[in-house]
Amino acid sequence: MPVLYAATTNQGKLRDFSTAAQEFGVEIEPLTILATIPAPEETGATFVDNAILKAIYYSRFAPSEIVIADDSGLEVEALNGAPGVRSARFASDSGLADSPDAPLDNTDVWNNMLLLQRLAAIPAPQRTARYHCVLAAARNGQILHTAEGSVEGVILEAPRGTGGFGYDPLFYLPQLDRTMAEIDLETKLSLSHRGRALQALLELLSSDP
Ligand code: IMP
Repeated sequence: MPVLYAATTNQGKLRDFSTAAQEFGVEIEPLTILATIPAPEETGATFVDNAILKAIYYSRFAPSEIVIADDSGLEVEALNGAPGVRSARFASDSGLADSPDAPLDNTDVWNNMLLLQRLAAIPAPQRTARYHCVLAAARNGQILHTAEGSVEGVILEAPRGTGGFGYDPLFYLPQLDRTMAEIDLETKLSLSHRGRALQALLELLSSDP
């Protein structure tokens, strides 16, 4: 199978993709041109729309290569599926963001803080949530395949663990009695939305002539 180019600058996602793909003998490289071109606006109403939009857009900058793009996020039942496609921008949509000259990017900290605030009155049994991921593969501006994966969990009342990224310290997996930030990367990918979506996508790509 050829090398796949991942259209993301998110280091957490890149690490997830590379580790999950290794098991299939597939190499995932970052699409380095990404840093030099404007990002497309993620205007889609769904994860599928945004993943497709990104894969088509970025594949035009890497002629003949297979480019994969994902759109993923957290859906909290008590918040009617929010933050959903707005997961990365959850806090900034509410005006909570670093000042432009802040030395570090604290987006994850703001997002987690807002999530805890929104769920403050919700008791444990109703704090159910799901991570969802859609992956799209495209070549020369044409979609080859899309694949999806999800994982169910519960949002804790305080963060636990230092691994992972994004909402991981709040995302509790009852079957493991751990948060996503308390498990090693291999375990995370064996059950995570991104690991499952990548596995499904690699199966589809490997069956192509
Ligand atoms: P995207 O870049 O538009 O797909 O945004 C995805 C956002 O959803 C991330 O910035 C995180 O806030 C959240 N997210 C998606 N997948 C994960 C994960 O595996 N762990 C933690 N947060 C995630």
